[in-house]
Amino acid sequence: MMEPIVQYKDVHKSFGDVHVLKGINLDIRPTEKIAIIGPSGSGKTTIIRLLMTLEEPTEGDIIVDGQNLWKMESGKGMKKASEKHLGIVRNDIGMVFQHFNLFPHKTILDNCVVPLVNVRKMKKSEAVELSKQMLDRVGLGDKYESYPTQLSGGQKQRVAMARALVMKPKIMLFDEVTSALDPELVGEVLEVIRDLADNEDMAMVLVTHEMDFALEVADRVLFLDEGVIAESGTAEEVINESDNPRLQDFLRRFR
Ligand code: ADP
Repeated sequence: MMEPIVQYKDVHKSFGDVHVLKGINLDIRPTEKIAIIGPSGSGKTTIIRLLMTLEEPTEGDIIVDGQNLWKMESGKGMKKASEKHLGIVRNDIGMVFQHFNLFPHKTILDNCVVPLVNVRKMKKSEAVELSKQMLDRVGLGDKYESYPTQLSGGQKQRVAMARALVMKPKIMLFDEVTSALDPELVGEVLEVIRDLADNEDMAMVLVTHEMDFALEVADRVLFLDEGVIAESGTAEEVINESDNPRLQDFLRRFR
């Protein structure tokens, strides 16, 4: 069995008095595709934001590629890892959000090229070549010079994926990437994720309400309920076979 690329060890997160995550233990193996399902407000996005280092845990350890992101200092609360170290970890992780977060005043091609040149210090010509390859892969080979406002939501989401993928992350996080899309545009975005899940070795974590999609692509499904992982198993076990009443109640609303 391969060493996990990500480990959450008894992770808690509170916002003020609100105890959102109540002891998350989770190992993610390097090629694993994990779907996180659960009611709104159960803490799914918080799990992902912690991994992106956009939030810091109140308690517990998050270890990425053998490195502890946050270290507890006795009596002093949580100590953040060095910026240099966090930079290395962030380079391993790509994230796609519900609301695209593209640079509005840059072309589609530059949306991919600029981070490669500025963050990765890649030569411009190489960055352009790699970005074009990735845009071709997500079906946007004819849109290099378009601007985000000229694209549909599904196309914008595919640019967001290309922009994350050019960075060659070891882990890709997808946070409800189809929730803001018109229903007729959902399929084209899921198609890209399915292609990645089938053909790429990286770990993928998807927060999704698309149960049929989770059944198709996920090696493992986690049902998050009130800040704990209430069910974990294969997609089949969790979505089709569990007799957990809260999970069944949740599924009735999404299927
Ligand atoms: P989910 O993704 O499952 O809908 P979230 O992780 O977004 O859940 O949120 C879980 C809970 O944490 C919610 O009650 C939400 O209001 C609260 N929360 C999330 N982020 C913050 C924040 N930055 N400040 C205060 N409360 C937050």
